[in-house]
Amino acid sequence: MSLHFYNSISNKVEEFKPNKDKEVSIYVCGPTVYNYIHIGNARPVVFYDIVRRYLSFCGYDVKFASNITDIDDKIIKKAKESNKTEKEIATFYEEAYFIDVKRLNSLMPDYIPHATSYIEDMISFISDLIDKGFAYQIDGNVYFRINKINDYGVLSNQAKEALVEGARIEVDKAKESPLDFTLWKKTDEGIKWPSPFGEGRPGWHTECVVMNHKLFGNLIDIHGGGMDLKFPHHENEIAQCEAMYNTHLANYFLHVGRVDLKGVKMSKSLGNYIFVKDFKTEREIMVLRLILAFSPYRSNINYQDDLFNQFANVYDKWQRAYKQVYYFLASNDLLVDVYDEEIINKFKMYMDDDFNVQNVLSLFEDSIKQINLAYRQNKTDLLSVLFNTFKIMSDIFGINYYLNPLTDEAKSIYLSWQTARNNKDFNSADNYRKKLIELGIF
Ligand SMILES: [Zn+2]
Repeated sequence: MSLHFYNSISNKVEEFKPNKDKEVSIYVCGPTVYNYIHIGNARPVVFYDIVRRYLSFCGYDVKFASNITDIDDKIIKKAKESNKTEKEIATFYEEAYFIDVKRLNSLMPDYIPHATSYIEDMISFISDLIDKGFAYQIDGNVYFRINKINDYGVLSNQAKEALVEGARIEVDKAKESPLDFTLWKKTDEGIKWPSPFGEGRPGWHTECVVMNHKLFGNLIDIHGGGMDLKFPHHENEIAQCEAMYNTHLANYFLHVGRVDLKGVKMSKSLGNYIFVKDFKTEREIMVLRLILAFSPYRSNINYQDDLFNQFANVYDKWQRAYKQVYYFLASNDLLVDVYDEEIINKFKMYMDDDFNVQNVLSLFEDSIKQINLAYRQNKTDLLSVLFNTFKIMSDIFGINYYLNPLTDEAKSIYLSWQTARNNKDFNSADNYRKKLIELGIF
């Protein structure tokens, strides 16, 4: 079996075949940096990180890009409210974003394109679209002419008429179609750039297409983002790409569901959201990672205290076993790099099955049971292999276990504790144990 997942462009589970033999390009739409990220924003940060790590594990050379939208109406508004420049706002929240990314233990992207670094490219892109007849200007704004795209709606799988009905779209009577979207926006306030169409700033949908193309050229392998980006954002990216390059944007669109809070859609305007930064401890943030990692990626997550507690129990159990067995194996020089093929084959089978993380979770749980049993029964060879297998799977899921360093001193006390215990010298064992507790080993 090889990797299969649900391609939003065909609405089918398909076999994944990259353009190049051993190389995979992924572009995931990143944040607009005007606030801290909430747990819903963290979901793509965790999900695509696992996809990326898994593809690397399968032997692909993965090129991973995630952009920063550092110019937007929301940034301009925030800058005005707080008497700062757009640049100051964007820099501050971008830093905050990457602090959260690192605390979630997601890898940094290989490429982090910033919209404001590509303004010239966007202006020439928009000029070309006008020349080709795919865009038109009204009073300093430039709009995309969607009626020139025959299969507009291909991603949302809806006819143009239905999209008009169902969507809240900008109403501008002068536009040729209500679905025509802004490529260049004339702005009266905030930061603006000079252009042949007048002073203004590029539209969000144009930013991603231009940066995507600059980084990877035509037709990337996987384009990702939240389910809510399907329409209009990704639909409009596809339309521009077809108009400009006469090709699809990506071979695979991989979308991830949202996170609701106690059954209600999170929204900053309603005030019902939880910031990632509010998960203060290393344990809390790892529990959040587990929730996001082990929920089926296409379904919405209903976040509530019960869910947190359920995964906190799971994580605490794994952390206890991992720590106990790690110190035993490391002190006795029993760490190995071989793994249990049967378990890893199962792991791959589940991942290849449209990222069936519920089966993967059961596999983690089974592995921990086996590890605890092998430890109790003192089957050290088996334990070494099972432990390393569990570590490999944990690494692909980006799960960290927090360990204090095993210094030479700690190692020698550990071995003394072990000997005393084996000799049933419980007094000495107890003294060594106390020292190990002080060192954070127990
Ligand atoms: Zn995007």
